[in-house]
Amino acid sequence: MDANEKIENENEDKEKSDKEKLDKEKLDLEKAAIIEKTYTCPVCDKKFHTKAVKASSAKFVATMADLRPIHSNINVTKYDAICCPNCGFSALTKNFTSSTASQRKLIREKIQTNYKSHDEVACEIYTTETAISRMKMALLCTVTKGGKDSEIGNVCLKISWLYQDLADEMPDDAPDAAAKKELYLKEADNAAMNAYERLTNARMRESFPIAGMNETTLDYLLAYYASKKGEYQTAMRLLSGVVTSKSISPRLKDKALELKEQVSQLRDQEAP
Ligand SMILES: [Zn+2]
Repeated sequence: MDANEKIENENEDKEKSDKEKLDKEKLDLEKAAIIEKTYTCPVCDKKFHTKAVKASSAKFVATMADLRPIHSNINVTKYDAICCPNCGFSALTKNFTSSTASQRKLIREKIQTNYKSHDEVACEIYTTETAISRMKMALLCTVTKGGKDSEIGNVCLKISWLYQDLADEMPDDAPDAAAKKELYLKEADNAAMNAYERLTNARMRESFPIAGMNETTLDYLLAYYASKKGEYQTAMRLLSGVVTSKSISPRLKDKALELKEQVSQLRDQEAP
């Protein structure tokens, strides 16, 4: 081994141990921000445990253009589905205990009878993959019980965010990194378009808050999705209401103005 080679190897080893240290720190931060909670399932009456984010422990960094929240110590969306390991009933945290008797009957008939109950899986944190399968189970149950468009749209929104998180987590040097990333982002887009459809329906038929959003926030999100779909006129119509809203936060207003600028450029490019 010549001297250069030795230095290179040492550098590689150092990079590897730095990365391991960083991973360990990230894991410790996430572990410190979660607690075990006990729930009684409204469908099968069995008690089970779930992990949840401790109140006000998530450290906010920013929201992305599609309102995906970023925190420095934990991905809160990963902990937002509650899943009963006995009967399979799953829902977003805020909807878990609010089902009606007829919805619970539907879950018993269509989910519980086909569900293989299992012991609780011991783990330190939920990985993003685990979180996606939990959220997909919540989607299946929410559709099966005939949940409102707002509730289904909210679950789809969170699935879209989680797939983007999964793409963000992919190390560039992983095998097939580019192909996998593309696949995750495609899944994110599919979920986003389902959210767009459901939340548009909810906006027409339900009262606010819808999926935890006030009118201004939801209209911004719908405008973002409309622009992604190439529906520039819809996007502009929604945005003109959003930017003139008196109740808008400065942060959302900045986002809306930026989107408006992008949409008007895209629209001009398309004009003959
Ligand atoms: Zn259950």
